[in-house]
Amino acid sequence: MKEEKMLTIVVPCYNEEEVLPETVKELGGVLESMIAERKVADNSKILFVDDGSKDKTWSLIQKFEEQHDYITGIKFSRNFGHQNALVAGLTTAVNYSDMMITIDADLQDDINAIPKMVQKYHEGKDIVYGVRNNRDTDTPFKRKTALAFYDLMKKLGVNMVPNSADYRLMSKRAVETLLQFKERNLFLRGMVPMVGFPSAKVYYARKERFAGESKYPLKKMIKFALDGITSFSTVPIKLIMGLGIGVVFIGIILMIYTFIQRCFGHVVAGWSSMMISIWVLGGVQMICISVIGEYIGKIYSEVKGRPRFTIEEDDYSDKF
Ligand code: UDP
Ligand code: MG
Repeated sequence: MKEEKMLTIVVPCYNEEEVLPETVKELGGVLESMIAERKVADNSKILFVDDGSKDKTWSLIQKFEEQHDYITGIKFSRNFGHQNALVAGLTTAVNYSDMMITIDADLQDDINAIPKMVQKYHEGKDIVYGVRNNRDTDTPFKRKTALAFYDLMKKLGVNMVPNSADYRLMSKRAVETLLQFKERNLFLRGMVPMVGFPSAKVYYARKERFAGESKYPLKKMIKFALDGITSFSTVPIKLIMGLGIGVVFIGIILMIYTFIQRCFGHVVAGWSSMMISIWVLGGVQMICISVIGEYIGKIYSEVKGRPRFTIEEDDYSDKF
């Protein structure tokens, strides 16, 4: 008889006390019915990653751990951010799980897509992206900026699955491959497509957050988008290079122009030499800075080597 596959659902939580009880109920319901239908192994888990919450999130997680055997948690020593929380969850879960699903704690992503993702896994897919089929719940501003961002990333040559966030299933080998990416500036939705392996998409409708506030205010969102651009592309540095070349070009034209002027005797003392040196030197400096920037950017991202996260408590591994 074939053995059922073990699933871990990884849920990052930052100050989510308002949503947790409902999340446990809904996600738990889905997991229980999948276990009952023998679609996943009966030791499958929901792993809450407490990303240094300041409210009662961790004590709530511990309370639910006592109520249900399939609920576990790990706790960070401080807030490390959503992307690091996801990686920590995957790092912890990959030792025991055959497949892992990541989903936000606020259940904005339709949990009914979970059985469909698992189905695709059984059909041989290693990565199953949850893709939003609408953006009705977003403000027009967020909708427009999100679209512009995907457009820009595409132009920069970054392969992303449009309208997919961090709601996805990954097989053990896909997660193992992802975890070999050692960069510190995490932008998972750009990294996951680089893993390769057979993939599929599951479409779902994204809802409003049912309680609590978004932990991604505009400022954090802009930083996230800029991180995405600078850790996946050196195009901005090349743009400076282009700008420098343009400025040098203008300098040369100016040089020719003043030379001709001089030949005809229209001349203001010192003007030509000053203008030419300002423009030409300015351009040369920009090119030089951009070349140095290219190297510093590379070194910077590699050299820091800081831990991505620090786990203070790990109740998940204790269960095995
Ligand atoms: N989150 C986290 N650490 C943070 C910020 C957010 O673990 O520093 C979690 C949060 O608890 C939620 C998920 O990341 O489960 C997505 O956050 P949120 O729903 O606030 O973002 P939005 O849906 O508004 O983009
Ligand atoms: Mg949300």
